[in-house]
Amino acid sequence: MKYVDEFRDGKLARGLARAIRSEIDPRRIYRLMEFCGGHTHTIARHGIEDLLPPSVRMIHGPGCPVCVLPIGRLENAIGLTREHGVTLCTYGDMLRVPAAKGNSLLTAKARGADVRMVYSVNDALAVARDNPEREVVFFAIGFETTTPPTAVAILQAERESLPNFSVFCNHVLTPPAMAAIAGSPGAQGSAIVPIDGYVGPAHVSTVIGSRPYEHFAAHYRRPVVITGFEPLDVMQAVRMLVRQLNEGRSEVENEFTRAVTRDGNLKAQQLMAEVFERRTSFEWRGLGSVPYSAQRIKSRFQQFDAESRFCVTPQSIPDHKACECGDVLRGLKKPADCRVFGTVCTPETPIGSCMVSSEGACAAHYAYGRFRDHQRSA
Ligand code: SF4
Repeated sequence: MKYVDEFRDGKLARGLARAIRSEIDPRRIYRLMEFCGGHTHTIARHGIEDLLPPSVRMIHGPGCPVCVLPIGRLENAIGLTREHGVTLCTYGDMLRVPAAKGNSLLTAKARGADVRMVYSVNDALAVARDNPEREVVFFAIGFETTTPPTAVAILQAERESLPNFSVFCNHVLTPPAMAAIAGSPGAQGSAIVPIDGYVGPAHVSTVIGSRPYEHFAAHYRRPVVITGFEPLDVMQAVRMLVRQLNEGRSEVENEFTRAVTRDGNLKAQQLMAEVFERRTSFEWRGLGSVPYSAQRIKSRFQQFDAESRFCVTPQSIPDHKACECGDVLRGLKKPADCRVFGTVCTPETPIGSCMVSSEGACAAHYAYGRFRDHQRSA
């Protein structure tokens, strides 16, 4: 197949659904987690759960970068604007994520903070060049996909000797989060929810390759199938996982061969290794503190590290009392299980982070799945 619409062909999807149904073992349940928010969006948008047999259960994972950032880090970012008067540049989704006491970056902006939406870290570099009198901080979030561009920006700032540019680094890592979900010893909330197999991330895997999941699959005896973001990709991954589980295998398989290799993008990995090192621990919304699950800027680039430049103190702040994002991110609950879903909490008035980004499980279910809930209950 060559064109994107071929990966959305309904006839082929129904054929794959029939193939999955013919392969399932009627004596068992298949609990499959799609780690990545992009896959959650695909599953909701294309109604994939409606095509799957009831014994195949899709569980949403924590792979939405906006969703997993804890409130404490967001409050740190707001504090940079309030206490240090910096110009804070970040992606659009971050602006509306609820912080503590009804705060957000958008409300901070309304109160006069200089918060700017950017499409890439390069835009933040441009803001720093154009405003030499301002301290410009890039509020960096995301998994291994968005980390290499941040590394390039820091190297570029060093080359240009940009004195007013720094990065508030919140880049996180996928394999340690998968281990935390699978119940790694020492991770807060271990043995979170029983999962039989994982739909592995697409974009992240283009960078890190399929090799880093091999230890995970062998250690936790859980199959991983890396797959693309189109509906037929996801259906095929489900079929491959069902087949592995039936055969008692726990291997890493790559459905997304058109973009992912075993070794990944070595240049991107080298850039990340040059600029970043692992934190010993990092707090995730929903998962708590996860060992070695995030990046920090190496001391060689300290002048570009907003955390050290502005003496940012880590803080831990609980979610809104009504919010069940933690359980949704751990796969313990579905969005519609939250009592404020679709009433108090909507994309226009989000109470939790999972309702903000289109990759968030609650936002995806609000956009596509809630109508099916009504049909089922009618
Ligand atoms: S509906 Fe809103 S408050 Fe409830 S879990 Fe989802 S984002 Fe959080």
